[in-house]
Formats: sequence, C-alpha cells, structure tokens
Amino acid sequence: MTAWEEACKRCGLCCFEKSVDLKGQPVTTRIPCRHLDIISRECRVYHKRLDVGEGCIKLTPEIVAKADWLPDGCAYKKRL
Ligand code: SF4
Repeated sequence: MTAWEEACKRCGLCCFEKSVDLKGQPVTTRIPCRHLDIISRECRVYHKRLDVGEGCIKLTPEIVAKADWLPDGCAYKKRL
C-alpha cells in the first residue's frame, strides 16, 4: 500500500452508488458496491478491484481533484 493509499480512512462512502439530483449535484445513495463489507467498510477485493467489472477507478490525486462526487470528509480530498 502506498503512502497515498494509507491516507484513506476507510469510511467506504466512495463505494456506495452515486446518483445526480435535480440540480445536477452528485448524491451518495445507500446502495453499496457488492464487494464492500458494510461492517468493516473495506473492499473485499481491493487488490483486484479494477479488474472485477464494477466500474471501480483508482483514486489518484489527479482524479480526486476533479471528483465532485467524493464526500467532503474524504481523507484524500483533505490531503490535496
Ligand atoms: S471516501 Fe475517501 S476516505 Fe472514505 S473510503 Fe473513499 S477514499 Fe477513503
């Protein structure tokens, strides 16, 4: 795990499906990714998450800087 990845606080909020409200703002739904352990909030397939076909993306600093769908409390956003 990289130093960047270690910043993640494992809240799991990025692993819930997103929707868009009537104003075009991203909204986090209550529907988790099927690979998210909702108790521990950890991904069950973290090391192969990009290969399992769920549309997971690797959260690099460049992507996090543009990701308006991440929660405000996301540790990656705070780290930028
Ligand atoms: S929302 Fe941010 S802090 Fe929470 S699990 Fe996702 S990347 Fe980690």
